[in-house]
Amino acid sequence: MSSAAVMLGAYLPGDSTTQLKQVPVPAPGHGEVLLRMKASTICGSDIRCIYHQHLGKGPEGYQGVVAGHEPSGEIVRAGPGCRRFGVGDRVIVYHISGCGLCNDCRRGYMISCTSARYRRAYGWQRDGGMADFLLAEEKDLIWLPPELSFTDGAQVACGFGTVYEGLEKIGIGGNDAVLITGLGPVGLATGALCRKLGARKIIGIDVVMERINLARDLGLCDEVLLSGPDNVADVLRLTGGAGVERAVDCSAHDGARATAIRATRKWGRIVFLGEGGRVEFNPSPDIIHDQKTIFGSWVTSTWRMEELVERLVAWKLHPADLVTNRFPLDRVSEAYTLMAGGKCGKVAVCFDEELT
Ligand SMILES: [Zn+2]
Ligand SMILES: [Zn+2]
Repeated sequence: MSSAAVMLGAYLPGDSTTQLKQVPVPAPGHGEVLLRMKASTICGSDIRCIYHQHLGKGPEGYQGVVAGHEPSGEIVRAGPGCRRFGVGDRVIVYHISGCGLCNDCRRGYMISCTSARYRRAYGWQRDGGMADFLLAEEKDLIWLPPELSFTDGAQVACGFGTVYEGLEKIGIGGNDAVLITGLGPVGLATGALCRKLGARKIIGIDVVMERINLARDLGLCDEVLLSGPDNVADVLRLTGGAGVERAVDCSAHDGARATAIRATRKWGRIVFLGEGGRVEFNPSPDIIHDQKTIFGSWVTSTWRMEELVERLVAWKLHPADLVTNRFPLDRVSEAYTLMAGGKCGKVAVCFDEELT
């Protein structure tokens, strides 16, 4: 591949449209690799913060780069100084490249990197996966075992990794009934992981009928409820009057968050994964007197992502099963439109063998 080679890359101008441009194929420098992209899934945050309009400001904002922060591909070139990965390796990209040296980076949580100068997320402040090739730093790579497809891997990069982290924080076991508020891709991933972690009953709530049907048809929820004013009473009824042991909010909706809190039983744990919005609850009756704990959880760490990959193989769980629609890069605009409409599972832009 000559340095003059060009590729297609997709950009998000912020008016609910996409733009495809021809750009040069980047060349990997020291400690960097060039990936041939294989799968790049769309995240809810791409829609919420970039596609409709650019919400983030300053260094946290979208910097007009190639979109896509859930990339998975194969290394086709490795720059000098790479220590672990090389040409031919299949990898997932942890989607925030941190400085590597601050306390958060040293913990593996590059999502929380405190370096304003060096923290750059793929698809936000540096080029992401919606292109034929992606330049990545070797330290951001997670090895993708042969049992998993690239589309499995792309989903680990953000969605499944984020859910796994949240579930590890609250702990899920065989005694637990789990409530999932919001059955978009993150909620569906929650159902899939709770099954493998042994949850005894999984209850899901959403406002979109297509998502409710998908959760039921994929067997990810034992009970599904249409969002409404009786949801707390419904969940209590489905759990012998006591409520669920664990609740996971994937909706970011104020009413659904309050339901997650109130439908959780005494000593229960709630984790908020959905971003943005508000919630209103009454601390004494809703959490203090019932000894409940609310956790916040943001993405995951590189080591926990590696752990998740290992467990996915052991569980024979394929995140790609949640992908309802695959598009080639030249139809990327349809992919974002569909995802923004919400009447689907996960939407992926795929390349080569991952497209079929
Ligand atoms: Zn994401
Ligand atoms: Zn850092």
